Amino acid sequence: MGAASQGAQVRRAAVIGSGVMGAGIAAHLANAGMSVLLLDIPPSALTDGEIKAGRTLEDAAVRNRLSISAVQKLASSQPPALYDTAFIQRITPGNLEDDLPKLAQTDWIIEAVVERLDVKQDVLARVESVWRPGTMVSSNTSGLSVAAMVEGRGEAFKRHFAATHFFNPPRHMKLVEVVPAPDTDPDITARLTAVCEWRLGKGVVRAKDTPNFIANRIGTYGMLVTIAAMRRFGLTVDEVDALTGPAMGRPKTATFRMLDLVGLDTLLHVIDNVRERSDNKEEQEAFARPPDLEALRKLGWIGEKAGQGFYRKI
Ligand code: NAD
Repeated sequence: MGAASQGAQVRRAAVIGSGVMGAGIAAHLANAGMSVLLLDIPPSALTDGEIKAGRTLEDAAVRNRLSISAVQKLASSQPPALYDTAFIQRITPGNLEDDLPKLAQTDWIIEAVVERLDVKQDVLARVESVWRPGTMVSSNTSGLSVAAMVEGRGEAFKRHFAATHFFNPPRHMKLVEVVPAPDTDPDITARLTAVCEWRLGKGVVRAKDTPNFIANRIGTYGMLVTIAAMRRFGLTVDEVDALTGPAMGRPKTATFRMLDLVGLDTLLHVIDNVRERSDNKEEQEAFARPPDLEALRKLGWIGEKAGQGFYRKI
């Protein structure tokens, strides 16, 4: 079977985690004609508004709030006069706990939860409990060990698993890194590559299962060097963004604009991943957590998704 027809075979997909990347990936898949289940993890705490409204954690509106708000956000962010919004109807929001069995009816499951190995391992164990052979499973990890994510899973599941690392925002960024683990079936790697290239219009680069793969290993290092230089030369956020933005042909992705888009919490996990897995002292030092980013994270100013990062979202 040719690559194009392998790609066309994915009709029903599921995305687990409806944060910055999960919601964006779900929208991109739906826009390519797939029906998409967008599942989040049930919240374990109520917001002040929910407490005031007398809601409980069992309330459907509370349990689905992340997925629903992500879909609503997508719907309202697309001006109807300019875009065809029919694709939104192809996204069904839900939560992993209640809708887990629905994963058995999908052709491709993408995990996009927080960048923590323990959380991803737990989610993948739950996925395996309903998974049926033939369904491809991939992780959107920024660079955790693909092999470690499926440690303890069955051989058949491992053969169907790899990483498909989309970039932010998934709709616009062309690159996807496809990263097989040692147990991944080459046919699954080929099918994931075909879907990303032929259905989703991406340019695929095959990467090895090394810390942060290729793009993030280089990209995060570049960010850390820039932040260190900012401190050394006493520059402001605005000055760094003026120097690393339009002047370098990056009108929307200057250093700190980019950081706000990515999310400081996610970036810190990505930095930790290289430092903790490296046995090279120089690299460990280069990937130390910058104190300024750590201070902002403690304030909860983690970027656009929180309404405030280096910039306030208007
Ligand atoms: P996010 O913080 O926006 O969303 C994280 C999701 O994980 C949310 O849906 C949240 O409900 C869920 N989650 C959080 N804690 C959890 C827990 N303890 N148990 C289960 N689920 C939990 O993060 P994101 O930026 O969408 O990142 C998701 C994945 O995509 C990560 O692996 C990240 O490294 C990767 N990624 C991020 C970017 C980026 O620019 N943000 C780019 C490429 C890849």
